[in-house]
Amino acid sequence: MKNQYMSYDESLSFLYEMQKSHPDLIEIVKIGTTYEDRDIVLAKISKDVSTADSKPAMLYTGSIHAREWVGHELALKFIEYLAKNQNIDPTVESSLASSTLYMVPCLNPDGYEYSRKHFSFWRKNRRKNYDGSYGVDLNRNFSIGFTKQTNTSSNVYGGEEPFSEAETIAIKNFVDTHENITIAFDYHSQGNVFFPAHKFMHEAEVNGTDMNVLCANMNDEFAKVTGRKYGIHRGKPPTALISGSGREYYYSKGIIAIVVEVGTKNIPDYMKSMSGSINENIPALKYAFSEVMNYSSYAPSRVEDFTIDSIGATSVSLIWKYEPREDIYFEVYRSTQDKDACNDRTRVGIVGENRFTDSDLVSSCNYFYTIRAVNKKSNLKSPFAPIVKVRTELEDDEFFKLIFASKTGTGYLGEFTQEQNRTHFGLNSLFVGINKSKGICNGVVSFDFATIPQNAIIKSVRFYLYPMNRVGAKIEKFGQWDLSLLEANSFTEVTDFDDIENADAKCTIGQAIKSSQLTQGIWNFWDFSKYECEMLQEEIVNDSATFRIDGPKDLPDGEDSQMMQFDIGYGQFGGGIQYRPILDIKYTVEDEKIHLQASSLYTICMNNKEEGLKSGFDDNSNRVYGYLDFDISQLPNPEENRITECALRIRNKNKFKTKSDVRFYVELVELDEVGSYQDIKDRDKIEYIGYEVAESDLNNKNYQYFKFDTLSKIMLDKMHQEGKKLKLVIKPTSSTGVKSRVINWDDDVSLSIKYIQKRRSPLPAVSNLKITKEQKMIKLSWDGVSDKALNGYYVVRNSFHTPKHFMDGVKIYGGKDNYTFDNFASFDKEKYYAVFTYDNVPNFSTPAMIKYNPLEIY
Ligand SMILES: [Zn+2]
Repeated sequence: MKNQYMSYDESLSFLYEMQKSHPDLIEIVKIGTTYEDRDIVLAKISKDVSTADSKPAMLYTGSIHAREWVGHELALKFIEYLAKNQNIDPTVESSLASSTLYMVPCLNPDGYEYSRKHFSFWRKNRRKNYDGSYGVDLNRNFSIGFTKQTNTSSNVYGGEEPFSEAETIAIKNFVDTHENITIAFDYHSQGNVFFPAHKFMHEAEVNGTDMNVLCANMNDEFAKVTGRKYGIHRGKPPTALISGSGREYYYSKGIIAIVVEVGTKNIPDYMKSMSGSINENIPALKYAFSEVMNYSSYAPSRVEDFTIDSIGATSVSLIWKYEPREDIYFEVYRSTQDKDACNDRTRVGIVGENRFTDSDLVSSCNYFYTIRAVNKKSNLKSPFAPIVKVRTELEDDEFFKLIFASKTGTGYLGEFTQEQNRTHFGLNSLFVGINKSKGICNGVVSFDFATIPQNAIIKSVRFYLYPMNRVGAKIEKFGQWDLSLLEANSFTEVTDFDDIENADAKCTIGQAIKSSQLTQGIWNFWDFSKYECEMLQEEIVNDSATFRIDGPKDLPDGEDSQMMQFDIGYGQFGGGIQYRPILDIKYTVEDEKIHLQASSLYTICMNNKEEGLKSGFDDNSNRVYGYLDFDISQLPNPEENRITECALRIRNKNKFKTKSDVRFYVELVELDEVGSYQDIKDRDKIEYIGYEVAESDLNNKNYQYFKFDTLSKIMLDKMHQEGKKLKLVIKPTSSTGVKSRVINWDDDVSLSIKYIQKRRSPLPAVSNLKITKEQKMIKLSWDGVSDKALNGYYVVRNSFHTPKHFMDGVKIYGGKDNYTFDNFASFDKEKYYAVFTYDNVPNFSTPAMIKYNPLEIY
C-alpha cells in the first residue's frame, strides 16, 4: 500500500479486494447510503467470518468528522495487518478465533471526499439543510443528550432531530441489532488524547476504571513504538460535556465506548507524522481487541467491595468480596500514578484468597490499586474493580503537608499580554509555551509556607500539576516543559513577564516533560532529588516558594502554536479544589536530645545481688549479669512527643590483657522485681538492643554505644506511653567456658534519647453530619471539634463505598468551616461522604460518614 491517504473509492476497492483474497476472514457489509449516494460500508473481521455475529465484538468507527482522516486510514492499515498476521501472531489468532471486529473505516464518506477535494477543513456531512446551508455534525446527531440548535452553519450543528442523518441511522441500526459488541472506539483527530464515555455527570462510574485502564494499556503499547503517551480525559467540570455523540449512544447500550483523538493536526504530513500515529495505534488496537472477551458475558464477574483493610507506613492491606470458586484467582495492580496501565509492569499480586497485603512501600506516598478476577480454565478476566486510592502512613518522625497553589501567586505571563498579565492570576489556567497571539508564555505557581515549621527538614517533595488541555500543542516532537524553583530575591513582581522570564532559577526540578509525553487528564508530577529538597528547604524562611514553568520559546517556520494548558483549579474555567497544583512535602523536624542517668544499677551473681554494675563470668564460669533501669517518666509528655532515636552509653573501668571470646548483649527485659539469680535467668527477654559488643572493643573505645533497633525503639515508646520503667540486662556470652572474667562498668551510665514534638493521636471525629440540598447542590454540615490542635476538616466523596481514608475518594473540601457544598455532585446518583478532622501532623480522625440516597428527601 502506498504511503499516502486513500480516496474513498480506493478504500472501497481495497476492502472488496481484501474480502476477495480473505473470504473466510473478511466480509464487507453495506450498512447505509449517504446523501450523495455513496455506500457506507462495514468490514466484519473474524475467523470463519460467517460466525462473526455470534462472537463478542469490538466496533471501530473512523472519520465521522470529515477532516479527521486518521480514522479512515488507520482502519485500512489495521485490516491489512490482521489479514497478514492472522496465522502468525498468536494474540491476533486467538482474538480472531474468539471475537469479531466490526470496522467502519469512514462513517462520513461524503464529507471525507469533500474535505479531500474541496475544503480540507470540512467537518460535517454533506446533507443540504432546510435553509440551503450544508452539513450536520454527525457526532452531535445521536440521541443521548441531543441538543437542538438553530445555527445550521455552525460546525457543531447537530441536525433537526436525533438520527436525522443517513450515516447515524446506519450505525444506530447496526449497533441496535448487534448486542455482541462489548467495546467501541471512535477515531478522531487531534490531540493525542482518549475521551472515555460519560453519563453527563462528573462522577465516577463503576466501569470508569475499565475505560481508563483500556486507554492506559493502549498507552503502554504506544510508548513501545513512539515513546508517546496520550491523555485520558473524561471531561471534567465545568467543561461542557458534548451532547448527541456516538460514544454516549454506544455507552448507553452497555458498551465500553472511547473516543481516540490522534495526532496534533487533522491532516498531518503522512510520512513524517501520520505513519507514526498509525504505527503506534496498530499494537494498541490489537491489545484492545484481545480484551473484547473480558467484557462479554463469558467473562468472570467483577470483584465487589474492593477496599482498604489497613494501612501502615510501608504496607497496605486490601480486601474484597467474591463468591468462593475453585477456578478463580485474582490479579492485583498497583501504581503510584493515576490512570496507569494494568499489565505485567504494574501487577503486584496473584492471590486466591480475598485479601492482599502489599509491603515495602514508601511512607506517606499515594498508591492506586485495582483488581480483576481471572478464570483459570478459560483465562478470561473480569472487568476491573473501581480504583482504590491510598496514602501510606507517616513514619514516626515524619509530617506531611499538601500545600495548594496560592491564588494570588499563580497564573501565566504572556510576552504580548503585558497589560492583562496581572489579571490572569488566580483566574483560570496556565498557558505555557508559545503561540502567535500571546508570544512566549510562562506559568508561575507560588506556594505559601506558613504552615511549614521553620525547623522543618524536608525529606521528599512531589509537585503535582494537572494538564487540562493539549490541543494547542500542535507540533509533534517539539519542545519541552520545565519546572524551576526561582531564587526569591531575583524578581520583584510575580505578575510581570520580564521579571519572571529573567528571574534566576535556583534549580530545575527533575526531568522535563517532552512534547511526546504531554497528556491531559492525567496528573503530571515531579519528584525532587535530595539536592532539590535542600533548595526548597532554604525557601522556608521566606514563607513561600515560587516556581516557573517554561515551555518552548520559539516556533518552527509556518507553525502557530505549541501551547499547553494546565489547570490551577481557580476561577470559572478551573476544575475546582481537586485540580489545583499541589506541593506534597514530607518532612521531619530538628530533634531535641535528653540524657537520662540510670536510676538503679545492680550486679546479680549466683549467690548475691550487689550495688554497682558488673558483668562477665565468675570463678566457676557462672554468668554475672548487670542490671540497670531508667525512669523514663522524665521524658516529655508522650502524647505530644515521639522518640526517634535511643542509645545506651556505657563505659568500662577495667580491661583484660589476654584475649577472650566474651561478648556482651544488652537486652530489654520485663521483670517485676530484681530479686534472685533465678529471676534474672528466667527473665522474659523482649528484644536484644542493637548489636553486641565484643570484649576486645572495650580496649579500643572510651564509651560503648548500644543503639536501639526498631523493635526496641517501639517498645521504649510503648513503655513511655504506659509510664513504665525501662529495664535492661547486660548478658555476657562465651563459647569456651571462661572463668573469672568480670567487667566493671562505670556508674556513669546514660540513655541518650532523641525526640521530636509530634502529636500522637488524632482528634475526635465530627458529630451530627448532615446532608441538605441548597442552591441546587448537596450541602454537608457538621458540628465541629473545638480543640486548639485542630487544623481543619477534610471531606471526601466516594461513589462506591464509604471512604475509609482521606485519600479514598474525591476531595470535596479541606478547611476550618463546619460545612461544604459538593458543587459537581449529581442528585441522581448514590454516593458516600466522610469527614475527617486533622491536626498539624496530620493525624486524621476516624471518619464521620454519611450516605447520599437519591430516593431520600433532604
Ligand atoms: Zn472529531
